[in-house]
Amino acid sequence: MDITKIIAPLNDAQRTAVTASEKSMLVLAGAGSGKTRVLVHRIVWQIQVNAVSPQSILAVTFTNKAAREMRGRIEMLLETNASAMWIGTFHGIAHRLLRRHSEQARLPKDFQVLDSNDQQRLIKRLLEDLQIDTKELPPKEIQWFINEQKDAGLRSKHLVDSDDKNAKRFLRIYREYEILCERTGVVDFAELLLRAYELLHDDEHLREQYQRRFSQIHVDEFQDTNKIQYDWLTLLSPNRDNLFVVGDDDQAIYGWRGAKIENIYNFQKHYPNHEVVKLEQNYRSTGAILKAANGIIQNNQGRMGKSLWTEMADGEKITVYAAHDEKDEAKYVVERIKLWVESGNKREQAAILYRSNAQSRQFEEQLMLAKMPYKVYGGLRFFDRAEIKNALAYLRLIANRNDDASLDRIINTPTRGIGLKTLDAIREVAHSRQFSLWDAAHFLIDEKILPNRAATALFAFLELIEKLERDTAAFELSEKVQFVIEHSGLMTFYSQDKVEKSADKIENLKELINAAAAFSFENVEEEGLSELAAFLSHAALESGESQADEFDDCVQLMTLHTAKGLEFPLVFLVGVEEGIFPSQQSIYDKAKLEEERRLCYVGITRAMQKLHITYADNRLLYGKSTAASKSRFLKELPQELLEEVRPKREVSRPVTTKTPNFLAFKVESDSRYKMGQRVHHETFGSGVIQTIEGEGAKERILIKFNRESRWLMTAYTELTVVN
Ligand code: ATP
Ligand code: MG
Repeated sequence: MDITKIIAPLNDAQRTAVTASEKSMLVLAGAGSGKTRVLVHRIVWQIQVNAVSPQSILAVTFTNKAAREMRGRIEMLLETNASAMWIGTFHGIAHRLLRRHSEQARLPKDFQVLDSNDQQRLIKRLLEDLQIDTKELPPKEIQWFINEQKDAGLRSKHLVDSDDKNAKRFLRIYREYEILCERTGVVDFAELLLRAYELLHDDEHLREQYQRRFSQIHVDEFQDTNKIQYDWLTLLSPNRDNLFVVGDDDQAIYGWRGAKIENIYNFQKHYPNHEVVKLEQNYRSTGAILKAANGIIQNNQGRMGKSLWTEMADGEKITVYAAHDEKDEAKYVVERIKLWVESGNKREQAAILYRSNAQSRQFEEQLMLAKMPYKVYGGLRFFDRAEIKNALAYLRLIANRNDDASLDRIINTPTRGIGLKTLDAIREVAHSRQFSLWDAAHFLIDEKILPNRAATALFAFLELIEKLERDTAAFELSEKVQFVIEHSGLMTFYSQDKVEKSADKIENLKELINAAAAFSFENVEEEGLSELAAFLSHAALESGESQADEFDDCVQLMTLHTAKGLEFPLVFLVGVEEGIFPSQQSIYDKAKLEEERRLCYVGITRAMQKLHITYADNRLLYGKSTAASKSRFLKELPQELLEEVRPKREVSRPVTTKTPNFLAFKVESDSRYKMGQRVHHETFGSGVIQTIEGEGAKERILIKFNRESRWLMTAYTELTVVN
């Protein structure tokens, strides 16, 4: 046993945490200070020095990707395979528990996991069954409500009926939703957590078994745990002496999804015999990046307060680019990445981080034009794509006829003459008789309720599913997937010319066959689960994360939320504008605004060597070009750390963007404009000056014209002052 290998790469404070005696531990420290590293080394320490069996290790990470990385690093240090350890996300681990103990959890053995999109679809259908107008009450709202309750550990039976009409309605839908899920054997993400909690809570024997098993429990990103996750951890730690958690209150960014920063305070209360270690040295970022991060976060109140320092030099300044519009912004970013790659760096070292998924499109377009491989995390991920979901729905229905959501999805995809009327009749019967859609369809046929043609079409569909199951019974997983894609009619359907991007879709379907072939059943140690069912769960749990292509050298695109815990040499923080970042909903709410600021802190601290921040003066919103203004976060950054670049061009001309050129500006004298002044522009007509920013060549003014507001750079704009 070579303990220097474990402790040599650590500083003193990190070493204290890693080698602490067996009690609970809270490592509270800022970004890039080595929290995740401490967790990894702690686990290795436990195994090598304290002879803890890998079986007794439980480690919770925030994403599946992080879990894989952690496992890899541990195995590298241990120089052995460590597959016996339970490392995963809360959802992944809850899923594993429920699979192992489905009976005790009162779930069908082959229960299926609904990802967020499936859940929304199911709710939509339920609302339609209940004859609730989904325009008036969007399914998404119900989804939020239900998940919020579950995250707080509340089932419909725990909620009291109130007099409020709206609350009554929500509660009724929640109840109906529970019944529907129960009947069809499906489990949504929030349910995974709640069920796993209830399982351990209600079953004393099982609880004790796992309490004995997990002698050490480790949690990364502890600041973002919600109530049910916290309670679940506490169930597993009866003596409160074996929880090792690391976190950073300044990086709490999931308050909107029920995460409770109070969990850190609660931990300090509930785990009396714990030690706190603070780490203060940052190993990730240059001095300038770290100062920028500190500069931002100090604008928040009520922080636990930590200081971070680095030995690294300040390095390059932070480059701020004021783009003309979103296209120009994307061009700038891609241009910079090109330079980066040309000077011998890898594409995967560059990350583009944005506030919301929809922002990725512009960057994808420019990256494609530049023929630069990229990978989008989040957004429409592989397992979320329509063609993939359709193929999976066939497979799911084959595995479980009660899976209403899947039946609903494919009953007429590809089209096979089953019309809305038939579908309505099926739903009606299913609802009134509490049947699954599958059974309802049979009922309609057996009772000869449907007109002949409809009955024939429906019967053919039911037969198709039965036949697919029979024909593939002896197949391996990937053969099964391939057969189903080909014989369900999907392949033919997507081969038609009229299908948009049909070539991509076919490629994706083929990729699904590859994914099935690569799926290693051995790693899923769920007893008794069919390989197909295991693969389907894997697909559901991976949806919302990475795409299938893991290994290429690609530029990385993701939301700020997804970037948590990661680091990249080159980072672009894009769309840093009021209304986007901070988001519109957060601007007037102090708590939300502070969460946005923490998100900004997370974004900045992902960067190791170089950070670019960009914003656009005009942005297409809902199909209209709208004047945008730079985010308050930019103004909060210590200005001496920034260098601003602006493209030289005629900004006053509407939306013709030339390739930016980062050279000189046309210098002009002091401002001749005043706020509130009326001015005339040849193209836009007359308007009133709302804001003036910058000076000289960088001066720009916001003018409210009749139809729209626009930012114009005075150095390039002909304006007549109207008296
Ligand atoms: P975050 O808050 O973003 O999750 P973190 O606190 O988990 O960050 P790590 O990701 O563990 O930080 O570490 C940040 C970087 O610093 C990594 O590249 C890590 O390898 C490196 N690092 C951590 N500790 C040391 C150390 N003692 N010596 C050298 N490098 C270190
Ligand atoms: Mg970390």
